[in-house]
Amino acid sequence: MKKILVIGSLNMDIQVTADRLPGVGETVLGTDYSYNCGGKGANQAFAAGRLGADAVMLGCVGQDEFGRTLIRGLKDNGVCTDYISVREGKDTGTAVILVDSLANNSIVTIAGANGSCDIPYLEKTEPQIMDYEYLLVQMEIPPDAVFYAIDQAKEAGKAVILNPAPAPVGLPEEIMRKIDIITPNESELARLSRHKTDSLDGIMEGAGKLLSQGVGHVIVTMGDKGALWVSQEGCRMFEGTRVDALDTTGAGDCFNGALAVKLAEGKSMEEAICFANAAAAISVTRKGAQASMPFKEEVLSLMQ
Ligand code: ADP
Repeated sequence: MKKILVIGSLNMDIQVTADRLPGVGETVLGTDYSYNCGGKGANQAFAAGRLGADAVMLGCVGQDEFGRTLIRGLKDNGVCTDYISVREGKDTGTAVILVDSLANNSIVTIAGANGSCDIPYLEKTEPQIMDYEYLLVQMEIPPDAVFYAIDQAKEAGKAVILNPAPAPVGLPEEIMRKIDIITPNESELARLSRHKTDSLDGIMEGAGKLLSQGVGHVIVTMGDKGALWVSQEGCRMFEGTRVDALDTTGAGDCFNGALAVKLAEGKSMEEAICFANAAAAISVTRKGAQASMPFKEEVLSLMQ
């Protein structure tokens, strides 16, 4: 199996539940709270590790309990964490998520040590792990570090998967040309392509714009509807797997991790998308992001 390099964020999500969200200056009584390991980079590496990948994660945490917990979770699930940098004087990235009884949420994120996942860190670290074949990267670290990682990967002949989340309004064309696979959800595609994506035609046109900018393949994740694969050869819809959804947090991260795993195993794009759809469907039947990520056997048995 080929090695996957994940470069991205590691966050501790602090989720607080209350009947309703407080207004400005208001205090409401909450019902419960929990700490959940998160950050798109960590979630995707975790998913890949759980699914049996040879995965290595690059990113930064603070010298604190949150950082230690995040690293331990990845390691316990088979991800190489040797190159994650623990930054003195920085706090691990944090997200405070307020959720009401109707599952509406308000989120404040603090990048913390994720801001240190910068070009100097990558310049120092990446040369030690050039034996990877797939780069999986998102946009919760400084954009110039993302672009640097993509440049380096392409120069070394690696395959690049970009999950453009959170989505910028467009990406530089010289970067688009270096992306083999881009995996926006519908709203991320709208921002990236500056095109309305509230219909299937709109989604295909938006994806077509990304292709015309030089991206190899566009895979649009579409929640319970599944995923749409668009490339120069045409497009194909992969129906979502029917499940009783409980919590969709981390579904996209699970999809990306699973997709990378199958491609790294040498499987076709069709097989990889089917596997990713099934893996992500399992993840929405469980609470949490990393806690909801499935094991390989569970995905294979759902697909039978
Ligand atoms: P994100 O979590 O990034 O917003 P999506 O909502 O598009 O991404 O979900 C990613 C993938 O998770 C989908 O392509 C699909 O495979 C799976 N998925 C999400 N929601 C459901 C659902 N309710 N039922 C089955 N599969 C789902």
